[in-house]
Amino acid sequence: VAKPDAILVADDVSKSFGGVRAVRVDHLEVQRGTITALIGPNGAGKSTFFNLVSGFDKPDSGTWSFDGTDISGAPAYRIARRGMVRTFQLTKALMRLTVLENVMLGATEQRGERMLAAPLRWVWKGQEDDVEEKARALVERFRLSHMAHEFAGICSGGQRKLLEMARAMMVDPAMIMLDEPMAGVNPALVQSLLGHIQRLRDEGTTIVLVEHDMDVIMSISDWIVVFAEGAVIAEGRPDDIRTNEKVIEAYLGK
Ligand code: ADP
Ligand code: MG
Repeated sequence: VAKPDAILVADDVSKSFGGVRAVRVDHLEVQRGTITALIGPNGAGKSTFFNLVSGFDKPDSGTWSFDGTDISGAPAYRIARRGMVRTFQLTKALMRLTVLENVMLGATEQRGERMLAAPLRWVWKGQEDDVEEKARALVERFRLSHMAHEFAGICSGGQRKLLEMARAMMVDPAMIMLDEPMAGVNPALVQSLLGHIQRLRDEGTTIVLVEHDMDVIMSISDWIVVFAEGAVIAEGRPDDIRTNEKVIEAYLGK
């Protein structure tokens, strides 16, 4: 039974790839306004679970609701419209757009329109001023103003992660899912990225993240869910997870 303040509630979600059960989650919920981390060994099913609940892949079974609405099996753009978004890595095409244009595209992406299918000025049909104003504010917020008119391709690893977050924030999501937000980020920038994530949470955005760095996880998470072989094997506050025998055996001990 879900707690009253759960924003995402998933039940019996499963997915196999060629006979391998990548995900078999009996129950997982995310409390509103928290930073919730999914951890577990490589191949434990964390990214697949992200893909399923955000509508980027179809499960074999399962139901899940967001903000009280059943969104099981809904396409990604519809889920995004309800306020649950995930970040995307920059593709080659996006690297040839400017940082500001990339952030502006967040508005389009989440509407389910094909990115780059039309010149930008046609896609927005008169909303471009609002979109641009909002994108500029986000570019500033994520400290990318000096890069606004540079090609996204020249961004450092850390700047890319900031750009991905800025783009996702274009739709004012209630929940944002970050898959390995620290990957490829210069250690000197990790604290600054963490600061951005914590600030989003403090302003009321729910954050779900997958991350490998245990120091990062322990320092910023309100709640930790541990995956192993597709299933949730433990969950709790950082201090409880740190000392949980099952977790140490399945993950930390390795
Ligand atoms: P994690 O993100 O925890 O490292 P994944 O969700 O990426 O784990 O993978 C879970 C399992 O599903 C792994 O065994 C992986 O090889 C498999 N898998 C994931 N995506 C696919 C796919 N598109 N096709 C085939 N197997 C996949
Ligand atoms: Mg993964």
